[in-house]
Amino acid sequence: MLQRTRKAIILVSLLLFPVTLNYFSPYVSFDGAMNGLVSGSLILFGMLFLSGMFLGRAWCGWACPMAGLSEYALSVNGKSVNTGRLRKIRFVIFTVWFGGIIAMFVLAGGIKGIAPLHMTENVISVDEPVKYIVYFMVLLLFTGLTFALGKRGACHSICWMSPFLEGGYRLGRWLRLPQLRILSEPKSCISCGACDRKCQMDIDVSIGLKTGSIEDPDCILCGECTGACKKDVLRFGTRKI
Ligand code: SF4
Ligand code: SF4
Ligand code: SF4
Repeated sequence: MLQRTRKAIILVSLLLFPVTLNYFSPYVSFDGAMNGLVSGSLILFGMLFLSGMFLGRAWCGWACPMAGLSEYALSVNGKSVNTGRLRKIRFVIFTVWFGGIIAMFVLAGGIKGIAPLHMTENVISVDEPVKYIVYFMVLLLFTGLTFALGKRGACHSICWMSPFLEGGYRLGRWLRLPQLRILSEPKSCISCGACDRKCQMDIDVSIGLKTGSIEDPDCILCGECTGACKKDVLRFGTRKI
């Protein structure tokens, strides 16, 4: 039931992507910064950072438009990925892009205003046929990379949003805030490996659970592992670290 609900939510989010595209756009944030404006997408990235402080990467498992696409692509290529190498690529992309945004604000003379509908004056992102080109390019990029690399390949390698979530997660952990986690009862584990096979982020769940909770910034709290465990070792909960 939990997984059916989750999959329905990410499917709706994917179907709404023509409406929401600009609010996730790295270009819209950049263009806003060139004009000294805090755009809707930059506001959303800030909200992702805040959500990461309490909910970790739950956005990635439960709400992101690309979550649905990445999960459907798993049926084509579900092989393991080199998460360490792809993480470096992702953080280089993020540093260049976000550094550029800061530089643009400086060149524009600072923040001059807040414009949630910057470049999205009609509220709907894809409001004319030509904009479908950008829409399909983004879909192609994410599916192509996941087909080529394996499990959530695009999420691991190019996502410009996940560093905000991970940054929030790390700050919340450092501040010892109560954060959503997958908690575990290590004594009940029979090391069958079912949770490892189910994890779409390629986390070694059966090893990580030995500390009493999954403490991995890549955990998207999808709950697939909790459903896979027949020994009730894993469950959702909050943990103050
Ligand atoms: S890693 Fe990025 S693209 Fe993938 S689900 Fe999370 S926010 Fe969305
Ligand atoms: S599925 Fe359950 S019993 Fe099997 S390794 Fe994972 S936590 Fe342990
Ligand atoms: S550890 Fe469990 S909740 Fe976290 S990403 Fe893997 S399957 Fe999902």
